[in-house]
Amino acid sequence: KKMIDWAKLRADFPILDQQVHGHPLVYLDNAASSQKPRAVIDCLSNYYEKDNANVHRGIHELSNRATAAFEASRQRVATFINAKTQDEIIFTRGTTEGINLIAASWGSKNIKAGDKILLTEMEHHSNIVPWQLLAEKTGAKLVYIPVTGDEGLLDLSKLDQLLTPEVKLFAFTHISNTLGTLNPVAELCERARKLGVTTLVDAAQSAGHLPLDVQSLGCDFLVFSGHKICGPTGIGVLWGRQEILDNMPPYHGGGEMIVTVDFFKSTFKKAPHRFEAGTPDISGVIALHAALDYLDAVGRENIFKHDQELATYCYDQLAQLKNVRLFGPKTGRAGLVSFLLEDVHAHDVVTVADQRGVALRGGHHCNQPLMKKLGIASTARASFYFYNTRAEVDRFIEVTREIQKFFGA
Ligand code: PMP
Repeated sequence: KKMIDWAKLRADFPILDQQVHGHPLVYLDNAASSQKPRAVIDCLSNYYEKDNANVHRGIHELSNRATAAFEASRQRVATFINAKTQDEIIFTRGTTEGINLIAASWGSKNIKAGDKILLTEMEHHSNIVPWQLLAEKTGAKLVYIPVTGDEGLLDLSKLDQLLTPEVKLFAFTHISNTLGTLNPVAELCERARKLGVTTLVDAAQSAGHLPLDVQSLGCDFLVFSGHKICGPTGIGVLWGRQEILDNMPPYHGGGEMIVTVDFFKSTFKKAPHRFEAGTPDISGVIALHAALDYLDAVGRENIFKHDQELATYCYDQLAQLKNVRLFGPKTGRAGLVSFLLEDVHAHDVVTVADQRGVALRGGHHCNQPLMKKLGIASTARASFYFYNTRAEVDRFIEVTREIQKFFGA
């Protein structure tokens, strides 16, 4: 097996080579959004310099090139997650739009009064609010798998009690963006499948961080965002089983998604085009292809191992400091660490770290219900990607010690 030159990979990310407030940038906010390699930035500008035109409509050269590259990316995404066919890949604006599309389209047809939608207490707002909106419209009920506490595991002893035949949809995150918990997706999907419950996996934090195979995971829907995995902002993916997508009503109406339009009635294309009304984010789709190629050249197993090593190292270093409260599992965590310093507000941690060039995130991380459950308002979070280094973790720990001294904690 070839050795990976991580420093060489890091040099592919021009943005990382800069000073912030007089210090070298240490970018540890990757769970919010990743940085982009030169290959992705070049792909975007090449597209606008050479091939820009609208897709699927033209019969001129530029439009044909744009359409070919757009559809090649769909095929590339299918391979990336081992979908059976590219027709199962719908381009969205991101994870949030993917979940809203499922709630509006699949949900309106399949969720009735009295049905249950099963979620977990560690869901991002984007996997809670669309279901609340649907529940209000339909009279369905939301139920939650509890989180055990600060160690942040799903309490699966409650699963038999909660995963019942009244549940029509079980939607849960693969990796928690606040706790770093890695949920047993295949096992959860198998248990749901036995009861005929449809499953949706929020892969916002896992796609691009570990190998994903929708067929072996056994889910029915899976969603993720391009911007968190070296791709551009504004592009995302919704994967759904073909037989399910083919039975879903349209989401947005407009151009591109129709076969015929009459003044009073229209007929619609099959998936995926039925769900892609209007001019899509063409450059975003094409550059996502470049991002996936880049990630697979590094190897997602390698990325996962690297992120996990950094996060484990970071967790162990923080655990050695006094007056630190750590969140998420002690072992087997994904590439991020959430923490609180006693008597220091998370926002103060992030602000002082920023003055020293270290980019963290502080707040509720779009997990307000989880914060309530844990009895806190916010956490500070360091999240890693493959271009981060052990030296950056050391720098982060050094800065954390300074913060503790600064606030006299
Ligand atoms: N789910 C999880 C677990 C996330 O971490 C995020 C992004 N923070 C989202 C959903 C929403 O992703 P986006 O804002 O790209 O739609």
